[in-house]
Amino acid sequence: MNPTFTLLIVDDEKQNRALLTELLQAEYRIILAKDGRQALERAREHTPDLILLDVLLPVMDGYTVIRELKNDDKTRNIPVIFITALDSAGDEERGLELGAVDYVSKPFTPAIVRVRIRNHLQSVHQRRLLEQMAMLDSLTGIPNRRRFNEVLEQEWRRCMRDNAPLSLIVVDVDHFKAFNDCYGHAAGDEVLRRIASTLQTSVRRPGDFVARYGGEEFVLLLPGIDREGAQLLAEHTRADIEAEHIPHAVSDAAPWITISLGGATLIPQESTAIADLFCLADTWLYEAKHTGRNRVAWAPTDACSASIACE
Ligand SMILES: [Mg+2]
Repeated sequence: MNPTFTLLIVDDEKQNRALLTELLQAEYRIILAKDGRQALERAREHTPDLILLDVLLPVMDGYTVIRELKNDDKTRNIPVIFITALDSAGDEERGLELGAVDYVSKPFTPAIVRVRIRNHLQSVHQRRLLEQMAMLDSLTGIPNRRRFNEVLEQEWRRCMRDNAPLSLIVVDVDHFKAFNDCYGHAAGDEVLRRIASTLQTSVRRPGDFVARYGGEEFVLLLPGIDREGAQLLAEHTRADIEAEHIPHAVSDAAPWITISLGGATLIPQESTAIADLFCLADTWLYEAKHTGRNRVAWAPTDACSASIACE
């Protein structure tokens, strides 16, 4: 059930590397480095889950290595355990102060090293699960609004750099409150889960992103596709939901569950704000609602003076 973790073992003595490898290779993928520079290279290349770091090393000692690791965003969060022949309390304190999670003196007891590593990796695993959960909507299991905001920002910057279009679609379930009143909240939750899953299968180019924005609102982010392509995708998505024929007796849009979609496409510029894209899509969602629901409405290209539309 646990993933296979990768350990980077850094020691200049061949015998120590062999000993630790033998001790740990049944449980983990092992990468070796024999000096400080190599340690940094391999850490950046493989981003291991944990590093066993010798202090006395040629070229660059372990203290310098951990400082470098902590200075690099890519390696900052990798836990480091010092394994060293230095065993004064001062050495240990120094190692821990530099950000090591643990400190083991040589000669070490293999069984204890193994257990300590296991414990630290267990924390790594738990922290990642928590991070993942914090990014997912608990009802539908798809990314939540917080994650969406992060991805939107990344894609915005990337599209600005590449001078590529970015499309945002805001999706709203038609007459969802009436559905809940009629069928109950458990049925409503089930509808949201089904819609989330259909959206994910409808929108699946690499880079496309689906999230639950809140309540009965979802968002789709489509980078690098032109306006016509994005509109077509929105229309397919609308049809996919309708084709499920989930009964909705109290909707005036159709006898089943339908969605309304508002979309906007623009090429991010320094002069436009991310909020403008969202606001445009949301404005056109309103348009889709007011022209009968179960439809796609799209901001015209000349609406890119977004600030006017969105004040
Ligand atoms: Mg050494």
